[in-house]
Amino acid sequence: MANDASTVFDLVILGGGSGGYAAALRGAQLGLDVALIEKDKLGGTCLHRGCIPTKALLHAGELADQAREGSEFGVKTTFEGIDIDGVHKYKDGVVTGLYKGLQGLIASRKVTYVTGEGRLSSPTSVDVNGERYTGRHILLATGSVPKSLPGLEIDGNRVISSDHALVLDRVPKSAIVLGGGVIGVEFASAWKSFGADVTIVEALPHLVPVEDENSSKLLERAFRKRGINFSLGSRFSGVEYTDDGVKVSLENGKTFEAEVLLVAVGRGPVSQGLGYEEAGVAMDRGYVLADEYMQTNVPTISAVGDLVPTLQLAHVGFAEGMLVAERLAGQNPVPIDYDGVPRVTYCHPEVASVGITEAKAKELYGADKVVALKYNLAGNGKSKILKTTGEIKLVQVRDGAVVGVHMVGDRMGEQVGEAQLIYNWEALPAEVAQLVHAHPTQNEALGEAHLALAGKPLHSHD
Ligand SMILES: Cc1cc2nc3c(=O)[nH]c(=O)nc-3n(C[C@H](O)[C@H](O)[C@H](O)COP(=O)(O)OP(=O)(O)OC[C@H]3O[C@@H](n4cnc5c(N)ncnc54)[C@H](O)[C@@H]3O)c2cc1C
Repeated sequence: MANDASTVFDLVILGGGSGGYAAALRGAQLGLDVALIEKDKLGGTCLHRGCIPTKALLHAGELADQAREGSEFGVKTTFEGIDIDGVHKYKDGVVTGLYKGLQGLIASRKVTYVTGEGRLSSPTSVDVNGERYTGRHILLATGSVPKSLPGLEIDGNRVISSDHALVLDRVPKSAIVLGGGVIGVEFASAWKSFGADVTIVEALPHLVPVEDENSSKLLERAFRKRGINFSLGSRFSGVEYTDDGVKVSLENGKTFEAEVLLVAVGRGPVSQGLGYEEAGVAMDRGYVLADEYMQTNVPTISAVGDLVPTLQLAHVGFAEGMLVAERLAGQNPVPIDYDGVPRVTYCHPEVASVGITEAKAKELYGADKVVALKYNLAGNGKSKILKTTGEIKLVQVRDGAVVGVHMVGDRMGEQVGEAQLIYNWEALPAEVAQLVHAHPTQNEALGEAHLALAGKPLHSHD
């Protein structure tokens, strides 16, 4: 039996990742008395094993590519190789700086920070290190961990997860990436830039399969050009160790050999043995179920982030965490429109989108009510300067708002901010066409795409 900590908090949060710490920061800002319980490091997956370190690797990869390609721009550069210790030092420096900043922020907002593994002990309490932390409300934010497939054991050496890949002490000569989703294609891209021979295995018919099919096809074309191999549409059937690596077999009989196998088949919720079921929280395959206000079926318990079956993105965790804090503080937050959440895959070239795909729009509105327009970056000055190719595809409800923006090209992730305003404010093509976009920017391509959709194309054919 745990001792009662003397204070009764307004909010006790289990898990200090994106979802949990955002709720803590916003709750404290709104005057709530908050306890935040974390067993590992404040910042969770995103800061230590996800968004930030992967993007540092991808940036190092971009520099490696630029060093190789200098002559294309008339600059004398040579690529001498990757100093992996140097890459890790750079990546860890970025993470450490942000980690310190975040710790300072939590302390300055007067959040009670508790280090230790917590367990839900009732609908209003969490036990940690033999102490009971009682709250008027509990927020479950225990996040997710890498998943594997039945019979596929991650040994951390030859068969690895993204956690291992981020700290690998070498650039593998060759790698098989199992899973062509966001995490898989990002590692494939970074490793290829570092000089590895990479093959992606994806069971579905396309890479980044949840994106608009046009984006998947453009990415596949770009990866093919970069020499990234991929096998689509056949499932993994087994792996065996070879003398110096692994041999992966697919159901269609194909086999691939490489030094390492990265398993990137998704992430599963962290909810086992944490007392959730005992407290009566409704769950589905390990995910905690919550309504649009992130409230579970137990009125005193909410849940956010990768633990709930919404998009597994850090900014979704932030938004859900803030929503819970605002609701508990008596504000009336608006539920999240998940289609309106921007999604970026930071491979080379980048894939960015917001809103719905053309296929989904046709399902929702009927095929004859949907208009799709593609604007090729070949007509965009800045993209030409950068020597990047790709497209912006707009999906519009006929005579109505733009309901989908799908972009492929280097740095196009930076354009998703305007795209999200267009989608979320239900802009008409003519309204966006009215806005003057700076020349020469890649952002201008978004303006030009809307000019074309509004019937007055400038640098594109009618
Ligand atoms: C390789 C990779 C790249 C990614 N890139 C991006 C990206 O570019 N952009 C993006 O938006 N998202 C990205 N993500 C996803 C993003 O990291 C997650 O969506 C986000 O971290 C989820 O936040 P969370 O708070 O739900 O969970 P987590 O960040 O997983 O945090 C949960 C926390 O709870 C703690 N915890 C668990 N159980 C307990 C317990 N019993 N007691 C105490 N503490 C506990 C854990 O230690 C952890 O710190 C990436 C993920 C990965 C793996």
